[in-house]
Amino acid sequence: MINLDGKTAVIFGLANKRSIAWGIAQKLHEGGAKLAICYQNERMKSEAAGLIEALPGADGFQCDVSSDAEIATLFEQLKEKYGKLDVVVHAVAFAPPEDLHGDFLNTSREGFRIAHDVSVYSLIAVSRAAAPLMPEGGSVITLTYFGAEKVVPHYNVMGVAKASLEATVRYLANSLGPQKIRVNAISAGPIKTLAARGVGALGEMLKVHSDKSPLRRNVDQLEVGGAAAFLASDLSGAITGETIYVDCGYNIMGF
Ligand code: NAD
Repeated sequence: MINLDGKTAVIFGLANKRSIAWGIAQKLHEGGAKLAICYQNERMKSEAAGLIEALPGADGFQCDVSSDAEIATLFEQLKEKYGKLDVVVHAVAFAPPEDLHGDFLNTSREGFRIAHDVSVYSLIAVSRAAAPLMPEGGSVITLTYFGAEKVVPHYNVMGVAKASLEATVRYLANSLGPQKIRVNAISAGPIKTLAARGVGALGEMLKVHSDKSPLRRNVDQLEVGGAAAFLASDLSGAITGETIYVDCGYNIMGF
């Protein structure tokens, strides 16, 4: 098992027990990390809080990552409570539902802006806020999807946002590398979560992935959590700026 004793991690993106953030929280907790787990708003609180309670020592915080003020308040709270941070997990994305169906050509200006603000800019904002709390270095992890590099029907503007996210990972890795802060993305295969249900034809995506991937199945949240635990740990100390696939091998196939 990966040893995360003595590390403190802040995880963004817990909505419910299907969330990838929940799979990651369980694995980081299993490794011994102390966890600060964030949910988006009051509406998400009751379900998230029930899960957080099940992990002894973990605490819940509220933060809408599209608000600079909420990010600043959160990191003041984290500084007060933990003093330092070692790991940031960014498992957050959003695009207006109407932009995740139909023809990409009809992407709205506002849909494009929101998708990039919530799903990409937020990684820059939380990394900048976390860096001063990581004097000994750290690990920033975000979640991406294959639709960043190949056209996946219905993924639309989110594919463009994920391409931007993967480029952002590389630029942040270069900015933060001298401070010994590593930045990586996990490219997960499709999983039935709240966010994924917003993408048209999810059922078909799941079926195609499990039919075509070398392992002939879909990935689950805990397997993504396992990769996140590795990236959070010192075992991955020389890995930064990368996109690591946790997709049962789907991305290697040409046909
Ligand atoms: P999810 O719906 O469980 O999690 C998405 C989270 O983003 C939710 O907790 C939501 O509250 C949060 N969020 C949205 N807007 C926010 C805001 N303004 N401020 C704070 N939080 C906000 O779904 P998930 O599938 O676990 O998504 C987590 C990440 O994994 C996303 O980046 C998603 O794109 C990525 N991902 C998902 C899949 C998949 O198939 N489920 C595959 C690859 C990558």
